[in-house]
Amino acid sequence: METIVCKFGGTSTADGGAAKRVMQIAEANAARRYIVVSAPGKRFAGDIKITDLLYSAAAAAKARRAKEYRKIYAKVRGRFLEIARDTGADERFLSDLKAEIEETEEKIYLGASEAFAASRGEVLAAKIFSRLIGAPYIGAEELISFSEDGTLDKTTFDKVQARLSGVGRAVIPGFYGRGADGKIHTFPRGGGDITGAVIARGVRADLYENWTDVSGVYAGDPKKNRGAAALPFLTYREFAALQGASVLHEKAAAVAGEAGIPIRILNTFRPEDQGTTIAFAPAKT
Ligand code: ADP
Ligand code: ASP
Ligand code: MG
Repeated sequence: METIVCKFGGTSTADGGAAKRVMQIAEANAARRYIVVSAPGKRFAGDIKITDLLYSAAAAAKARRAKEYRKIYAKVRGRFLEIARDTGADERFLSDLKAEIEETEEKIYLGASEAFAASRGEVLAAKIFSRLIGAPYIGAEELISFSEDGTLDKTTFDKVQARLSGVGRAVIPGFYGRGADGKIHTFPRGGGDITGAVIARGVRADLYENWTDVSGVYAGDPKKNRGAAALPFLTYREFAALQGASVLHEKAAAVAGEAGIPIRILNTFRPEDQGTTIAFAPAKT
């Protein structure tokens, strides 16, 4: 059977309605075996991404601004509990989730690193999606390793393959891994895309689907140029030349491209759209 790795970005995990779409997409094709999720993003213009809230919370904790810290963290807590409730979580799940959210609140307040704080956005999201999709949660610290210089450790792909062989389906948090010092480290911002590409390369996936809030790669940002259409196909090289196409992190395209894994950019809110495929050459039909 084909193996597809799917990555859902922050707009696809932002609230219960989006999360239910993610569940439908995951269920629609049994080949979608490994699901990578980002922390909940903006629900509307002016909203704040969970990752940004966590960075602000960590800064407030470090400066011992207790009141501010509790206020910011309350927003994080509220958003995760709302998504869990809106996607039908029962009391037992909610009480476990609350306990983890509270434990995390104390860890950050007591000095956990900024990277640890930021990574909790994807961890809590992945736990909610694991329940919703009905596939086990596997933490990224078990899969992704960084070298001392902060780059991806070369053993990561083999580690991913070994850990996921025999695992039919899994939900995996994006954006972070374990450093050579044993601590949590993150990719650059937008790095959930890189996690998806690393998992796809590790399991030698047939396809890496990157689900977002636009129907593919456009010649320019579609939010600024509404009449534009998505490009149906791009080579890895053509995508790399499209500087500023922030729809997919350039490192993600490189990681998948080096292994020749086709990437498809798709829209969670218009799953029927064909999206953009990035590969060496268009598939022969
Ligand atoms: P996600 O949360 O799914 O990772 P991102 O915000 O990182 O989503 O990327 C998707 C956004 O990228 C789109 O909403 C769009 O506004 C923006 N974007 C910028 N340039 C382009 C482009 N050339 N083609 C498509 N989208 C683009
Ligand atoms: N949540 C992280 C960020 O906001 C990673 C990602 O969304 O890909 O940058
Ligand atoms: Mg992104």
